[in-house]
Amino acid sequence: MLARRLSARWVLPIEAPPVEHGAVLLGPDGRIAAVGPEARVPRPADVLAEDFGDALLLPGLINTHTHLELTGMGSGPPEPEFAAWIRRLREVKATLGSETFLAAARQGLADCWAAGVTTVADTGDSGAVAQSLAELGGSGIAYQEVFGPHPDQCAESLRGLQGRVEALSRFASGRVRLGVSPHAPYTVSAPLYRTTAAWAKANGLPIAVHLAESPAESALLSSASGSFAQAWRARGIPMPAPLGRSPVQWLDEHGVLSVQTLCIHVVQATGLDIGRLANAGAAVAHCPRSNRAHGHGDAPLAALLAARIRVGIGTDSVVSVGELDLLAEARAARSLAGLEAAQALTLCTLGAARALGLDAEIGGLRAGKWGDCVVIRCPPAGSRLAPAELALASGPRDVVATYVGGRDVYRNSRPL
Ligand SMILES: [Zn+2]
Repeated sequence: MLARRLSARWVLPIEAPPVEHGAVLLGPDGRIAAVGPEARVPRPADVLAEDFGDALLLPGLINTHTHLELTGMGSGPPEPEFAAWIRRLREVKATLGSETFLAAARQGLADCWAAGVTTVADTGDSGAVAQSLAELGGSGIAYQEVFGPHPDQCAESLRGLQGRVEALSRFASGRVRLGVSPHAPYTVSAPLYRTTAAWAKANGLPIAVHLAESPAESALLSSASGSFAQAWRARGIPMPAPLGRSPVQWLDEHGVLSVQTLCIHVVQATGLDIGRLANAGAAVAHCPRSNRAHGHGDAPLAALLAARIRVGIGTDSVVSVGELDLLAEARAARSLAGLEAAQALTLCTLGAARALGLDAEIGGLRAGKWGDCVVIRCPPAGSRLAPAELALASGPRDVVATYVGGRDVYRNSRPL
């Protein structure tokens, strides 16, 4: 691969202050060789140099929660009743073949790159995202989902998961990691949580769980009531025991929470729950627009951050939020928790990398990290704003170019 030298009006390394008239040198190994003021970054003779003018150059954005196998399946706002919505989605998915999911995942990955997102933490059950990441040269963690609300299904569900992960291991690499996702407390039994978590730990696989998302999930675990409990009763599934647990407490008691665990949503969480997450070292994927679209309410983002929990921002799927726009999520997180622009930007770059345990490799512009970066045009007449404000005010259509491991994976052909 050719070395590249990119320069722009503003370079935002995230882990260092913004540099006006800065440059980044991407080495032939796909990693960052140098970052800094234009005059101090080397300009080797054989390098492909490009100056983007009045633009912002940032580390590639990191989306900590996607379902890219569902790309193209969004059709307006989700129906108001969450349990019915989940059921409908699973019915639709059951009618689709593997080629459909693969085409969706490839398109989803291309859409991410076009929106400046260079790493995804994706949950799904088709395996299509791991395959697409490997084939297209992407970066991400593909968490393979497992379901099974009846305790009697536990052994069979675990065997199925192990077989799927084994089959997907041919797609794993330094940039494509596999994980497991015991889906949610209303689709996974207590023994399946326990055995999946133990197996993942023994094999060094990270875990992602949808957790403390809806009031109905809390009602199932606290009092065997609400729409999920009704659905379980209708299917002859025994109620969780003992009752009286919060979703976070339930998973903690079943050995699921650790530094390798990414908890998605975490809306229905008390101070005690936040303490449990912090003690376990678990991370959170915060999805502000999805939480609102489903009427779940707002996550206690300020309290999560105050407890020094690692938090990254995620979009969730197109079925929940329509177009995936990570910077719109960052703006929503900012207003929710009263954050500075730079803090909000960190939640979808370095903070997200920390949440995924990948901050030694990605999340900032620093020599040695992967050459993942995005060039964003400055919004018109906005040049007096601080660069973090400019970045935060932009959207997918402002992305000019995206690089993964020093390779150009997206270029907007519209003139600057
Ligand atoms: Zn989700």
